[in-house]
Amino acid sequence: MIGFSVENNYPVPMDEAVRLLHRIGFDAVSFNWKLGVDLTGGIQAARSLDMPIHYLHAPQGAYHTLWTQDAPEMLQLILQTLEDCKSWSVPIYVLHTCSDFVPITPDRAIGERNFRRITDTAARYGITVAFENTARPSYLKALMELYADDPHVGYCWDSGHEQCYAPQEDFLAQYGDRLLVTHLNDNIGMSTPGEPNSADDLHLIPGDGIADWVNQLKRLRGANKVDILSFELKRVSKPNQKLRLYDDLSLAEYFEKVYVHALKLEDAYRRSW
Ligand SMILES: [Zn+2]
Repeated sequence: MIGFSVENNYPVPMDEAVRLLHRIGFDAVSFNWKLGVDLTGGIQAARSLDMPIHYLHAPQGAYHTLWTQDAPEMLQLILQTLEDCKSWSVPIYVLHTCSDFVPITPDRAIGERNFRRITDTAARYGITVAFENTARPSYLKALMELYADDPHVGYCWDSGHEQCYAPQEDFLAQYGDRLLVTHLNDNIGMSTPGEPNSADDLHLIPGDGIADWVNQLKRLRGANKVDILSFELKRVSKPNQKLRLYDDLSLAEYFEKVYVHALKLEDAYRRSW
C-alpha cells in the first residue's frame, strides 16, 4: 500500500485533498497535528473512503525542553495530541526526539522521565510510538536504547533527514529491525558538509533529488517489512525556499506526479518479497 502524509497548507479543504488522493490511487493517509489546524475533515474523509489512517505525526515544538525540564509545556501538548490519536483510533504516533538546532545541556534522567510519560500513555491507549531520525542522532539513539525491548516503541525512517542532516549514519542498519513507518522523500543533500541546515530538508519527490533509490530500496528490503510504504513530501518545504520544483503544478497534477513515482518504488519494494 502507498501512504501519503497530508499537509496542512493545501489550497483546498483537507477533506477534498484526501478525496483527491483517494481518486488518484493512494491507499492510506497520515496527518500532522498542528495547533490551530482542524484535522477532523481529513480524518472523516479518510474514514468514509475506508482509507487507513497510518499514523498521526506529533506537533512541531520545543522538543529540547523534554530533555531539560520536568513536565514542560511540550509534554502537555504531546499528551493532549495523544488523546486525539486515541479518539481517532490511529495506531501509530510519530515523534521527534529533540529540537534540531537549539543548543541545550540535556539531562538524561529528565528526558527519560518525560518520554516515559508519553510512551506509557500511548501504550495504555494501544498506540505504538515511532521515533523519527532528525538532525541529532544521539537523542534517537538514547531513546532506541531505552526502549530496546519495548514492543510499543519502534522507528520511523525519514530518508531525506538522513541524507541532508546525518549522511554519516545508516539508520536502517541500526534500527531497521524496528521499522514501523517510512518518510520517503528526497533532497539535494547537505549544502555545507558537516553542518545540518533546515534549508536542506526539502521533502522532494523521490527522484527529484540526489538519492540513489535503487540503493535506498535495497536498504529498505533489509529492514522490517512495512505494509504501508509512506511518503512525506512537501510542495514547498520552507518559506524563501530556493529550489521550487512544483510551483507550476495544480494540486491534482502534483499528487499525480507523486503517485507515479510512489507506485514505481512501491512496486519494486513489493516485488522483492
Ligand atoms: Zn519526516
